[in-house]
Amino acid sequence: MKMTKRKITGKIGSSVLIGVGLANAGLAYCQTAEKPNVIIIYADDLGYGDLSCYGAQKVRTPNIDKLALQGRMFTDMHTVSAVSTPSRYALLTGQYPFREECYAPVFDAQDLLIDVNRLTIADMMKAQGYATAIIGKWHLGFGVGKPDWNGDLKPGPLELGFDYYFGIPTVSSHPPFVYIENHKVVGLDPDDPIVYGKSAETKVFDEKFNIDKMGGAKAAHALYDDEMVGTTLCGKAVKWIKDNKDKPFFLYFPTTNIHHPFTPNPRFKGTSEAGRYGDFIHELDWIVGEVMKALDEENLAENTLVIFTSDNGAMLNRGGQYAMSAGHRINGKLLGFKFDAWEGGNRVPMIVRWPGVVKAGTVSDQLIGNVDFLHSLASLLGYELKEGDAPDSYDMLPVLLGKTSREMRDHLVIAPLKPSNIAVRQGSWILISARGGGGFGAKKPGEHAFGGPPALFFAGETNSDIENGDYKPGAPDQQLYDLKKDPYESVNVINKFPKRAAKLNDLLKEIKTLPSTRQLQK
Ligand code: CA
Repeated sequence: MKMTKRKITGKIGSSVLIGVGLANAGLAYCQTAEKPNVIIIYADDLGYGDLSCYGAQKVRTPNIDKLALQGRMFTDMHTVSAVSTPSRYALLTGQYPFREECYAPVFDAQDLLIDVNRLTIADMMKAQGYATAIIGKWHLGFGVGKPDWNGDLKPGPLELGFDYYFGIPTVSSHPPFVYIENHKVVGLDPDDPIVYGKSAETKVFDEKFNIDKMGGAKAAHALYDDEMVGTTLCGKAVKWIKDNKDKPFFLYFPTTNIHHPFTPNPRFKGTSEAGRYGDFIHELDWIVGEVMKALDEENLAENTLVIFTSDNGAMLNRGGQYAMSAGHRINGKLLGFKFDAWEGGNRVPMIVRWPGVVKAGTVSDQLIGNVDFLHSLASLLGYELKEGDAPDSYDMLPVLLGKTSREMRDHLVIAPLKPSNIAVRQGSWILISARGGGGFGAKKPGEHAFGGPPALFFAGETNSDIENGDYKPGAPDQQLYDLKKDPYESVNVINKFPKRAAKLNDLLKEIKTLPSTRQLQK
C-alpha cells in the first residue's frame, strides 16, 4: 500500500500541527498508514557550495537537484561536529559528542566509541520492526580495548541495532584499505593475516591519534580498489533495498564520496570543471540517482522518506584547493572549512524528500542539527524515548516535513576539532569560545596541518580579526557574529555586544552541565 496524501492531510494538517499536536505528529503517521521506509544518505565532506541546487557552477548534480525539486531544501542545517567521527556519533545517538570528549577522527587502533547500551537510531528502528543496514563508512571504532582485525570486529554496527553492515571501517584516506561485511574483513585469508602495530618512525603522531601501521592480507586488500569503492557501495545499497522491499526498512548510507583521496570510477573522470574533486561529486550524484531509481523500480518512492546530507563541511586539501582555483567554491561564501566552528565547517546541504508528505520544491531556513534525527524519527514512528535516550536530540519532525514555520530549535552547540573553540548558536547569533575556527592550522594561506604553528588556525580565511594569516593585535579572545546580518562572519562584533556574548557563554555553560538538553525545547 502506498502512503496516501488524504490520510496524511487528515491527521497532519497544518491546523493540527500548530500547538499541542506537535509532539505526537509522528504517532499519527504510524496509526494511519504503512510505516515509511527511511534512507539517510550521509555524504562525506560535502560542502555547502558543492551542489548545483546550492549554487555550484563548476559541477552538475542533476539527481540531487531533482531530490530538491521534489522535496525540501534546508539552508541552516548543521552537523554538531565539524569532524567525521563525532558527527556520526551525534547522528546515531542523538547525544552531543563533546559529552564523551569526542572531537577528533578515529583510526584503526580505536575501539567502539558508542556504548552498546545507548539507544541508537538503528536500535529504535529495529524495535519498530524495521530491517536495518549500514552500507558505507563506519568510522566509530570496533571492539573493546582494540579492534581484532583478524577476528570478529565486535562490538560494532551489528551490536548497535544494524542487521547488516557492508562498508569501509574507518576513513577512505587511511588503512586498513579493506571492506568489512558484518563482523569480518572481506576476503581475509587466515594464512595471510592483517599485520599491525606501532611504527618507530611515526610513534609520536601514531600514539596521539591511536594509529597502527598495517600490512599483510594481500587477498583482502586486492578486493579494495579505491576507484571502485563508490560504485561498489552503491551496488550493495541498491541490492539491499531490493532484497528488503517487502518490509519497512531503514538504510543508513554513509558514502565515501567526497572524502579525499578523490578517486571516482574512471567513467566520471574529467566530467566536471573542478578536477577530480568535482568528478567525485558527479559520482556521488550518480549514486543518489541509482538509489532513487531502485525506489522507483520497486514502487517504493511514495512510501520512503529520504534524507540527504553531509557529515561536515568541505575540506581545503589539495583536491579542494584545485577545485577552488578552478572557480568552484566548495563551501560557497562561508568562512572556513571542515574541522572549523566557522560556518564552512558545519553548515551543510540537506534535502528531505517524501512525495505526498513533504511539499515539493520548498526551502526551509529553520535551524536544525544532525543530532535531531533520532528524536525526529522516534516521533515519526511513535516511539517513546526513555530518560537518557538521545539526550540532545530535539523532535524536529514538523520542521523536516515542512509542517510548521515555528522555530523549534533556538540554540545548538557546534564543536570543531579543537575543544577550546566550541561554539553555540542562539537564534541568528553564534559565539565561538576562542580565536579562529578551531580546525586545521598553517602559516600560509592554502596550507594546512594538525595543530599548526604558530597560534593561528588558518587556511586562507580572512575577517576582522585576521590579517595575512595572523591575528591582528588586540583581536578579541572570543568571537560573536549575527549570521542574519553577517552570514560570512566577516566582522567579529563581540566588543559591540558584550551582553549578548555573556548570555551565550552562560547558555553554553548551562548546556555543558545539563545531562540532557531535550527539556530546553520550546
Ligand atoms: Ca567527513
